[in-house]
Amino acid sequence: MFPRLNQHPWMTEDVALFREQVRRFAESEMAPKLPQWRAQGRIEPEVWRKMGALGMMLPELPEEYGGAGANVAYQLVVLDELARIEMPMKHSVHSIVAHYILEFGTPEQRARWLPKMASGEWLTSVAMTEPAIGSDLKGMLTRAQRKGDHYVLNGAKTFITNGATSQLILVACKTDPALGSRGVSLLAVEVDPPPPGFRVGRVLDKLGQHSVDTCELFFDDVVVPAGNILGGIEGKGFGQLMSQLPWERLIVAVAAAAVIERAVELTVEYTRQRKAFGQTVFDFQNSRFKLAECATMAHVVRSFVNDCTQRLLDGTLDPEAAYMAKWWTSEVQCKVLDECLQLFGGYGYMNEYPITRMYADARIQKIYGGTNEVMKELISRSL
Ligand SMILES: Cc1cc2nc3c(=O)[nH]c(=O)nc-3n(C[C@H](O)[C@H](O)[C@H](O)COP(=O)(O)OP(=O)(O)OC[C@H]3O[C@@H](n4cnc5c(N)ncnc54)[C@H](O)[C@@H]3O)c2cc1C
Repeated sequence: MFPRLNQHPWMTEDVALFREQVRRFAESEMAPKLPQWRAQGRIEPEVWRKMGALGMMLPELPEEYGGAGANVAYQLVVLDELARIEMPMKHSVHSIVAHYILEFGTPEQRARWLPKMASGEWLTSVAMTEPAIGSDLKGMLTRAQRKGDHYVLNGAKTFITNGATSQLILVACKTDPALGSRGVSLLAVEVDPPPPGFRVGRVLDKLGQHSVDTCELFFDDVVVPAGNILGGIEGKGFGQLMSQLPWERLIVAVAAAAVIERAVELTVEYTRQRKAFGQTVFDFQNSRFKLAECATMAHVVRSFVNDCTQRLLDGTLDPEAAYMAKWWTSEVQCKVLDECLQLFGGYGYMNEYPITRMYADARIQKIYGGTNEVMKELISRSL
């Protein structure tokens, strides 16, 4: 129903083949286990090691760090296929951390962390948000104080994806509070085994995305080697965070495109077999018109995401296009999910139906990765 992904120039024959492999893996190794992972609130780590062994974890890393030296299109199709089967944004956060380390890590840091991340031995997270600050990151209170050859880290983070299942957490903190955003650094904290003073708080109870652990984290006088400051220089954290945001935002848009298409496919399938008043639900003009609208939105979203992907590959994706893609595709995702769910009637309210879970899972897309209001604020500055 939605061939456009495969029709775009960035989807070369090799990328398309890789995508088929990922789809087979996702459908056979992940989809059947998702109900159990949802019930237990976490994904079994073995699946990441299997993905790593097949080269699907971080294919875009250079070979010396355990990747395939592929371009980021390969990672985008992984994220697309996982979103399609209702995997939450767990793997995406891991890819975001990998991009930070690859881009800004010292050669020693890259060699130490990236191979374990590519093999799936390690899962990672990034901890920016705090109980009192989210959008206004400059106000963060988490503090790392240099003492000789180490830092002493103090603070609390919340809403951290993979917080209870990571082996490495990239913590945004102030190394010099007097300097404002120029005093922010990213400190890599290795938590397997957990260092003294590090504690995972509650695994938070969410509206959707139940298979992913979203957590509170606490750091009380945690000693972290000075060599774990990303890039080896203090005060670069804010710039590092900002420079990777287009990638983070495109990831949200890719997931939106995949989920919208899946939702329309599922709804067409359902309405064609569900009967009411002696005809199928699909036969009502209202249903067909709603589905026509949703299919149109799916195509337009995919075109925009394809265009952004091509520009990312060409090195010409400007931040504003990524902000636009993030807010707009996530809004469309929520709208399409609402329309599709309505066509399922009461079954659309039952958690055993994928459309119901997809509806609940979609809502966060407008909030994380920078809220949609913040995206519009940023876009407006370029006008
Ligand atoms: C499931 C989930 C997973 C997450 N994963 C992570 C993670 O892995 N790592 C991490 O660090 N964080 C994570 N987050 C946090 C997420 O990024 C923040 O929730 C988000 O940035 C918003 O921050 P906040 O919740 O503090 O809301 P606030 O910043 O308090 O915003 C509240 C409201 O005010 C609006 N607002 C704020 N500033 C402005 C402005 N300038 N103009 C207009 N409106 C504004 C917002 O848009 C929002 O509507 C996650 C959150 C969730 C729910």
